[in-house]
Amino acid sequence: MTMFGSPSNRQAEPTMTWCDACRRPVFWTLTKNRKRRPVDYHPNPEGNIVLGDRVEPGELTRQEWAAGRGREVWHETVLTKGERAGWIVDRDGPLYMPHHATCPHVDKFRRNTP
Ligand SMILES: [Zn+2]
Repeated sequence: MTMFGSPSNRQAEPTMTWCDACRRPVFWTLTKNRKRRPVDYHPNPEGNIVLGDRVEPGELTRQEWAAGRGREVWHETVLTKGERAGWIVDRDGPLYMPHHATCPHVDKFRRNTP
């Protein structure tokens, strides 16, 4: 675990939280439309999301911060089909799966998405 104040938080690990619907472990990312979305906590070689840096509170508007109830949120990169095809986990790093792809209670869960 990287300590707060280190020069780079790239090696930091997201804090584990739990899906409100199925209680599986997730963390939260900020999409390019600045929506939060839950992502399965454990890497999944079938996924298409690459974890970026932690979003600092100063990067969020007050509304965005409140919408996430102050929960930690991470930048993400969604790979294109081409990038995904050329991705080798052992070489390029872990991939993650959006939780809405795996949640058994996806309809219940959507209501919790700000
Ligand atoms: Zn779920």
